[in-house]
Amino acid sequence: MDELDLINLKKQARVAAATGDKARAIQLYKEVLSQTPDDDSVIMEMVPLLDDENERRNYLQHVLRISPYNEEARAALAALAGSDIAAAAAQPELEVLHCYYHPNRETRLRCNKCGKPICTECAVRTPVGYRCPDCVRELQDKFYTADSGDVIKGAIAAFAGGLFTGFVTFLAVMLLGGFIFFGFLAAFFLGPALGGGVAELVRRAMGKRRARNFPIIGDIAFLVGIFIIAIPSGLFFWSLFSIGMAALLIILAASTLYARLKF
Ligand SMILES: [Zn+2]
Ligand SMILES: [Zn+2]
Repeated sequence: MDELDLINLKKQARVAAATGDKARAIQLYKEVLSQTPDDDSVIMEMVPLLDDENERRNYLQHVLRISPYNEEARAALAALAGSDIAAAAAQPELEVLHCYYHPNRETRLRCNKCGKPICTECAVRTPVGYRCPDCVRELQDKFYTADSGDVIKGAIAAFAGGLFTGFVTFLAVMLLGGFIFFGFLAAFFLGPALGGGVAELVRRAMGKRRARNFPIIGDIAFLVGIFIIAIPSGLFFWSLFSIGMAALLIILAASTLYARLKF
């Protein structure tokens, strides 16, 4: 199951919860958790739906094991214990701390995952509360699983897609460069279609894994491929219109590729 399936599953769970279908929502959330058992935001969405107090308590305790400073989980657990005293005792004291990254700045905020003190500038707001830059990066690393081999394969695929796109651009300008209406129509259709097709090719070449800066690397490899074909073919020297048509096609293709790789 890849990230897109997980995102869809989460959406379905939210829809089921919002429409009052608790049993279905819980079943879907549990399916998500079977893939990512430490996703505390999913657990926090599911817990209010659970009828069994023990099950709730177990899930909340699990959240606190993952994110010891998750205030929401702490408060919910204290509420389950049914006592304000317990809630008060469970609150971490609001002592004055110093930011881990800026030792001369005072703060009362801690990262809710690792507990490191962080100032308001360093704190990153996430759906589960404030986190430090290290924990956010760690979370992103789980998302970016491609290794350098995948990046090279992806760049080669993007470059090859660029050669093909350059060739199609050349053909399109050859055939339609004299017809303004059909020329622009072709650019409008071909650009996004080629960008989308190359994005799919790249995704497969990378085994559907992602790398942090790949959208930019991939787009550059793609453009290099295009220009290697398009410039020697004389594409850009024919007429103002053929330049415009080619530019439109290439811009649409490159921006479609970038957007697809980004997600
Ligand atoms: Zn942290
Ligand atoms: Zn700071």
